[in-house]
Amino acid sequence: MTTTQDPTTGTPVSFLNLVADHAEVRDELDAAWDAVVSTGGFVGGAAVAEFEAAFAEYQQGAFCVGVANGTDAIELILSALGLGPGDDVIIPANTFIATAEAVAHTGANVVFADVDPGTLLITGAAIDAAVTPNTKAVIAVHLYGQMVDMDDIGAAIERHNLLLVEDAAQAHGAEWNGVRAGASSAAAAFSFYPGKNLGALGDGGAVVTNDADLEERIRSMSNHGRSLTSRYEHDVLGRNSRLDSLQARALLIKLRKLDGWNDNRRQAAQWYRANLPEAIVPLEIRSEAVAVHHLGLVQVPVGERDNICAALDAAQIGWGIHYPVPCHEQVAFQGADPVSMPVTEAAAPRILSLPMHPHLTEADVIRVCEVIRGCTAVA
Ligand SMILES: *Cc1c(COP(=O)(O)O)cnc(C)c1O
Repeated sequence: MTTTQDPTTGTPVSFLNLVADHAEVRDELDAAWDAVVSTGGFVGGAAVAEFEAAFAEYQQGAFCVGVANGTDAIELILSALGLGPGDDVIIPANTFIATAEAVAHTGANVVFADVDPGTLLITGAAIDAAVTPNTKAVIAVHLYGQMVDMDDIGAAIERHNLLLVEDAAQAHGAEWNGVRAGASSAAAAFSFYPGKNLGALGDGGAVVTNDADLEERIRSMSNHGRSLTSRYEHDVLGRNSRLDSLQARALLIKLRKLDGWNDNRRQAAQWYRANLPEAIVPLEIRSEAVAVHHLGLVQVPVGERDNICAALDAAQIGWGIHYPVPCHEQVAFQGADPVSMPVTEAAAPRILSLPMHPHLTEADVIRVCEVIRGCTAVA
């Protein structure tokens, strides 16, 4: 360990590095843009169909429908399953706000459940505690790039006879016992927001499912409720939530890179484990899981996060907090009776996301760990 080094003089470490990701495929992206402009087809079409087929196969699902973003993907799944006013949908309190928004926009009631202290993911016991006579579905959020314990959740779903929907916006390519999101539930929702493991050059999203009827309903609902066989017939209330051709071409190109990029993230996670001081606790990764480390999430000692963040700032190292205010404490989602989610609430002031991306080097990770070690309370 080099205690004499001035941390402010080292190389900056960025939180994400989309420029480096895209540099690897820049020629292909430029050619794709060219092809899209030359053909004049900008929404849907062959590029979208080709991406949908490739992504369904990648996720081990039968069908994929490209949509405008990940939030719409969740909402479309819930609506196509017939969920709405009068139904309770359980989601983890520890998730990005979009999971809760998607439920609320269907008219269904958001019911929060607590998470496991090691993985910070929803558990079967938390579902048992949250279930009501009106509960119809659970959204399992594979947060931070690790799938929830699908055996535990699957048993709870069976106990209470519920539908299982997956929010896989942070888990492209992640596995539980060799099975990927979308392969063993009603459907999984994906986001292709640029910073996700598989990101578009703008917004994008997808639904992966094995259910042919659900696929048809979502395909129609995401395209103005248009009949799939008759262009001018609208049998269901739809909306506009489609994937652009340019995004589909970019996603096809980047999908070929995804396994290698996820391998790099796993390598970076190992470097963190080897170099972080003991007081900094990385996310627990279960032995059944193949994690894709969307975020470099750690838990720091209570009261130390501000000091660590200030040291990271001084050293020009990127960081984030996912998420400092849990969903059930957000004003928009506070019901009449406040609920208590002790594990989520205890984790919120301790979580910190360190730089995590496919182009992180071992030297970058060692530098981040040394700067954290320089904060005396955790050294
Ligand atoms: C990003 C994200 C979403 C929403 O995806 P958008 O494409 O931004 O709408 C939903 N859930 C989780 C867990 C996410 O990380």
